[in-house]
Amino acid sequence: MAGKINSVEKLLEELREPSFKAAELELENLNNFAHKNGFNVNNQLKPWDISYWSELLRKEKLNLDQEALRPWFPLEDVLKGLFGLCEKLFDIKVVEANGEAPVWNEDVLFFNIFNNSNNKIASFYLDPFSRPESKRGGAWMDECLNKNIDSEGNQIVPVAYLVCNQTPPSKNKPSLMSFDEVQTLFHEFGHGLQHMLTTIDLPQAAGINNVEWDAVELPSQFMENWCFDKKTLLNIAKHYETGEKLHEEDYEKLCANRTFNCGMSTLRQLHFAITDLRLHSNLTSYQELNSDEIRRDIAKNTTLIPPINEDKFLCCFSHIFAGGYSAGYYSYKWAEVLSADAFSMFEEAGLENDQEIKDIGKNFKETILSLGGSLPPLEIFKLFRGREPKTDPLIRHLGLKASK
Ligand SMILES: [Zn+2]
Repeated sequence: MAGKINSVEKLLEELREPSFKAAELELENLNNFAHKNGFNVNNQLKPWDISYWSELLRKEKLNLDQEALRPWFPLEDVLKGLFGLCEKLFDIKVVEANGEAPVWNEDVLFFNIFNNSNNKIASFYLDPFSRPESKRGGAWMDECLNKNIDSEGNQIVPVAYLVCNQTPPSKNKPSLMSFDEVQTLFHEFGHGLQHMLTTIDLPQAAGINNVEWDAVELPSQFMENWCFDKKTLLNIAKHYETGEKLHEEDYEKLCANRTFNCGMSTLRQLHFAITDLRLHSNLTSYQELNSDEIRRDIAKNTTLIPPINEDKFLCCFSHIFAGGYSAGYYSYKWAEVLSADAFSMFEEAGLENDQEIKDIGKNFKETILSLGGSLPPLEIFKLFRGREPKTDPLIRHLGLKASK
């Protein structure tokens, strides 16, 4: 989607500048906090001190115990909330259809999706629980059937499978999800929506097929944003035994946790992305330098504490040498910019304003979720947003700058 190296460099620089400023303040705070709590006042924190002191500061500042929030997120309620949100945004109906299709494990759930004329438009499997003995870790979505018209002219509806690895139920408790697991489910469902709500009948370009790598995380990260929407989250989160709603204070903590030390973490991602991009594209302007020296040169603007001499990070940056991300590490940030910018259209309309949200949701469905790989992703994005993507919404979501 990016098209040119310069477009990527420009986007990364737009994020780098505010991240660097925010990270400087965060590091100063962290040093002060460490000095107050027993770290030698004559020394500044070293790279290997940062995680430890960050976690202590996070604990003191946010006092957030994610494990203690699990009872507010039983799977059944989370699904109800997720489906309710999609019904509102995209004018569809998700209906449980267990038993209608064979499954590979008794935990696997099966659902149908109907449009507003009550026609079945898609189906999906959800395999939610971890089974370490037979299932690899992580979460993923993929396709069983693509939208297609067969040789007799029959419509084939798309079928997806979503796989997660969340905590299984026990004898007397349902599956109680961590907030991270909730976000993961929303993420995978976002991929699923692009596959299932496609209107393209050519399987090669339907749904997630033929969508450029740097645009494919747009619907998934877009859906994650709704986990931080107060109305959506408080509507989902009810204690599984008492029905008590999640306290607003806990909601605020989850939001604060999202942006905690975000300057430092974003800067780290940008350091990786810029290093990867330049090593694969711009060696001529670094003619006299070897790869490690190039990385150290980039580090001047992308790290606050220069890498120590013994730091041979490139040797273990396997993403870009063996992981298939060569020159593509930037795609994480690129897609985050797209998803934040898409979500900001809903924010601008006012998340409380149901009619506007429905209208924008319909537009999102008819462009981003429908058109798949049938048009260049920038064109699809512009059809939805009415303009090219901007970095401001992501900068605001990450708490790197006051909102505009
Ligand atoms: Zn994804």
